[in-house]
Amino acid sequence: MNRLVILGGGESGVGAALLGKEKGYEVFVSDKGEIKKKYKDVLIHNNIDWEDKQHTVSKILNADLVMKSPGIPDTVPLVKQIKEQDIPIVSEIEFASKYTNAILVGITGSNGKTTTAALTHHILKQELQVGLAGNIGDSFALQVLNENVKTFVLEISSFQLDDIVSFKPHIAVITNITPDHLDRYAYKFENYIASKFRIAENQTKTDYLIYDADDEVIVDWLTKHPVKSTLLPFSLTKKVTSGAYLEKDRIIITIDNNIINMPTDKLALEGKHNVKNAMAASTVAHLLKIRKQTIRESLENFHGVEHRLENVLKINKVQYINDSKATNVNATYYALESMGAPTVWIVGGEDKGNNYEELFSFVNEKVKAIVCLGVDNEKLLKSFSSMVDVIVETQFMTEAVKIAYKLAEPGDNVLLSPACASFDLFENYEDRGRQFKEAVRNL
Ligand code: ADP
Repeated sequence: MNRLVILGGGESGVGAALLGKEKGYEVFVSDKGEIKKKYKDVLIHNNIDWEDKQHTVSKILNADLVMKSPGIPDTVPLVKQIKEQDIPIVSEIEFASKYTNAILVGITGSNGKTTTAALTHHILKQELQVGLAGNIGDSFALQVLNENVKTFVLEISSFQLDDIVSFKPHIAVITNITPDHLDRYAYKFENYIASKFRIAENQTKTDYLIYDADDEVIVDWLTKHPVKSTLLPFSLTKKVTSGAYLEKDRIIITIDNNIINMPTDKLALEGKHNVKNAMAASTVAHLLKIRKQTIRESLENFHGVEHRLENVLKINKVQYINDSKATNVNATYYALESMGAPTVWIVGGEDKGNNYEELFSFVNEKVKAIVCLGVDNEKLLKSFSSMVDVIVETQFMTEAVKIAYKLAEPGDNVLLSPACASFDLFENYEDRGRQFKEAVRNL
């Protein structure tokens, strides 16, 4: 019997363990941290061998196949040992995709993956039996066991793509590419770009690659590294003959001379970046023959995902907005761009080597005061002190919100869009967003 070792006992690891067992593998799950009780219960209930708080190397190195959680970098000694033994290592999407004939839609990019995946799923589910998986929702492997699901929307990180072999989405989307996670890519941007493009490496002419044609990084890479896929670009600035573009206030999508068009003013999500996300999602839906009216209505009633430009409350005519998921400068760029009123901006956290220059014109134009929320605010103070009348520092969310409340006047926005990781003061970006919302509700 073939032996499958799974490194990481989280959602994807445990899902893959169940799928592996069903497909006849002898499965062993090993996690260096503590496996959550709900997952332990599943493993025990299904008679699957597991360990946590350790890796028993001898039990791992006799695997025929290793499935590794995307959180584990290639540089850890155990992974090196596995590679030295020539044991194949795959990610969950690689492993699970072997066991399904469903249509796969794979969505990657630096920003907008979750929003685009959730929006695509929201449109498709009106007419199809569709699963949402990958970095979002329930484990893909587990859902593969449900044969009724004929289409999957997969949110795919670069780490998942690093461990694919033959994974091939029928429709791939690259939302955009900006520098991120470079610590996992030997600090070389080209390694990270190459990783994102692996989403198309097994595609052929009958598969599609949907991408942002306004993104120079993507366009430049495609020129130098052509793919076999049929290309469907989307653009806010130029007309395309195949794909999606903007004509006045309408999105026009053309596939094989079959055109649909939709007004942008009725999109429930705000901001130019969300017009792009809507273009990508609607192009997928158009390819999968979803009715035009369904696409339109779905775009009008999709109100987004928590922590992404989420409208929290209006207090004294001031709108409070939670964009805690903006963990890099590019995401915050689009948040500031979409602000239609003077803004008190709460920013800061763990700096990832940020360069704030691209935000300068929006800050000059739209930001009336800045609250720096982080352990180390030096770079923010240096970058923005000369641009706003008020810039203050704090290390407490409740205080940041109270200061913003005092500074904001009727008609203003208070925006939490940190442009930084959250780990200096919070558990993660969700914790940061929730603390913000609670502080706003307590005002
Ligand atoms: P991801 O899953 O790739 O991290 P999310 O949809 O969670 O993307 O959004 C992350 C952050 O980026 C949020 O602050 C969101 O408002 C912003 N964002 C969403 N879509 C885009 C886009 N197309 N381009 C740039 N920023 C975006």
